[in-house]
Amino acid sequence: MGLLTKGSPLSWEETKKYADHVRKHGILQFLNIYHKVKERQKDVLKWGDEVEYMLLSFDHINQKVRVVLKGEEILDVLQHKGEKTNPNHPTLWRPEYGSYMIEGTPGQPYGGTMSEFNTVQDNMRKRRQEASSALQQNEAICTVTSFPRLGCAGFTLPECLPTPVERGASKSLFFPDEAINGHPRFSTLTRNIRHRRGEKVAINAPIFKDVNTPSPFIEKFPSSNGDGGKAAKPDHIYMDAMGFGMGNCCLQVTFQACSISEARYLYDQLATICPIAMALSAASPFYRGYVSDIDCRWGVISDSVDDRTQEERGLKPLKNNKYRISKSRYDSIDSYLSKCGEKYNDLDLIVDKEIYKQLTKEGIDHLLAQHVAHLFIRDPLTLFEEKIHLDDDNESDHFENIQSTNWQTMRFKPPPPNSEIGWRVEFRPMEVQLTDFENSAYVVFVVLLTRVILSYKLDFLIPLSKVDENMKVAQKRDAVRQGMFYFRKDISKAGNAVVEECDAAQNGTETCAENYTLMSIDTIINGKEGIFPGLIPILNSYLESMEVDVDTRCTILKYLKLIKKRASGELMTIARWMREFIANHPDYQKDSVITDKINYDLLMKCNNIANELTECPELFGPGCDKIKLSGNKMASLNDTL
Ligand code: GLU
Ligand code: MG
Repeated sequence: MGLLTKGSPLSWEETKKYADHVRKHGILQFLNIYHKVKERQKDVLKWGDEVEYMLLSFDHINQKVRVVLKGEEILDVLQHKGEKTNPNHPTLWRPEYGSYMIEGTPGQPYGGTMSEFNTVQDNMRKRRQEASSALQQNEAICTVTSFPRLGCAGFTLPECLPTPVERGASKSLFFPDEAINGHPRFSTLTRNIRHRRGEKVAINAPIFKDVNTPSPFIEKFPSSNGDGGKAAKPDHIYMDAMGFGMGNCCLQVTFQACSISEARYLYDQLATICPIAMALSAASPFYRGYVSDIDCRWGVISDSVDDRTQEERGLKPLKNNKYRISKSRYDSIDSYLSKCGEKYNDLDLIVDKEIYKQLTKEGIDHLLAQHVAHLFIRDPLTLFEEKIHLDDDNESDHFENIQSTNWQTMRFKPPPPNSEIGWRVEFRPMEVQLTDFENSAYVVFVVLLTRVILSYKLDFLIPLSKVDENMKVAQKRDAVRQGMFYFRKDISKAGNAVVEECDAAQNGTETCAENYTLMSIDTIINGKEGIFPGLIPILNSYLESMEVDVDTRCTILKYLKLIKKRASGELMTIARWMREFIANHPDYQKDSVITDKINYDLLMKCNNIANELTECPELFGPGCDKIKLSGNKMASLNDTL
């Protein structure tokens, strides 16, 4: 989750003194990069995925599953066996927030050819195997978005007690600091967010009210050692640590565009897809041992890293702070970056005016300048003593410091200084799925979508305020079947039309006629006669026009079929499947409580599914050839989408 620097981290009080210094040099670093590479044109389309994993330990005797706090140890083993031995090793491993987490990516980015879609799942499988081989018996590496009993008594191995004391990192009643990655970046982020905010973070996820759930649902928390959970809201699952959010796993995709303008175009277009892809990937219905009423992690993470003071959140008049800020640092994007997007920028955008002026004076256009000046309203959250004074021509740590702690649905990434890497955009909303098959399917779906967006010059833009409304709907329980999302009706402004429209927007001649309407995910993905063509049918016609070898085509068809059926509700999302699993568990008391035994059974099942030891037709449809790419592919060639 961003830059790792070794050294001595500064406290919040010390970091704060350098906030202007970091911003000033961060902007200089950005400008240096921008001026050097703004004209770069011929970078090729490349892309890569990031999968976040959890390490679990199954206690078969006591029928209990816990997160194992040995991410760093495993990471060390994997890096030594991998990239440190062979620079061309097919996988790369990185640390993640939880000390029970690791992140894996392909060793090299994928290129632009279709046949590479056929290697994604193999690479993910390799990662799973590599990581599994570094584990002990009864341990497993799982791609679950949220651990259902995170923060419950004894949820870690070794068992660690939370220590809600001021000198700790999160001061949580539930989440021990030992469950935070041991690299000082992570605990410093945690502590400095709390100190900047002036109080602990507070997360309240609505509880799912089952027939026996107490109503109102109110929990008592210890006050002898702690604050009694005073920020807890009735009818909500209360959580009080960054780990409840950043300790969740996701699936991300990064694209390299051929130029800065293509990157800006993709950034905008994909921003509208974020809520849709998130709802389709919904996989996190449980928090701190309870069934919640949400299906996605997004809002939980957002609150878990919300460093805004009471003044910034609008709870007190502004006195010590500069701005009222409407969102957490982890949230949806606030402005489009391409010319076509300009007229849909309808959110109030707070910018650092001085920075905006400086950027425009340096020749940066309004849209990019306001984007950067908006990111830079934030303070740096961590700073290492050894990394205060940098060479702004050749380093970008101060820029990255602010940039990488703005965790938005999309991220626009300038090339690192002096590198071959081009302008990139990162697609960040998706929840990680149980199997390599599903994760490959979601990733390939998004990558293919970028291909059709670019080849057909599609236009999905709607006012950003509507995308924000979609983000809220997307997290609700069963949003895939029940949610209605604003989506553009006419997306096929082919070729010149897009350019013309942009010019018109520039001249202010086009008024923003309502070109969008509310649609279900089924309509958006599969289409509906007379309303919307559907993304999958568009991808299909694109595929038909491409030369793709039989094997690859077959793989892609399987992936798209999964997306299609998840969208129509014929197949379940992970979240819905998990809810049904719990509801049907013989121990479940219909009281929204997930006991150790229920959790154990659920995660055993998840792990068996991921390792292809059991089928799960509710998630994949009948027959296991949906999971095994090695199966008889020719047989399913006739499958129509
Ligand atoms: N785990 C975070 C999430 O679920 C993302 C962290 C990162 O940016 O790598 O969104
Ligand atoms: Mg990550």
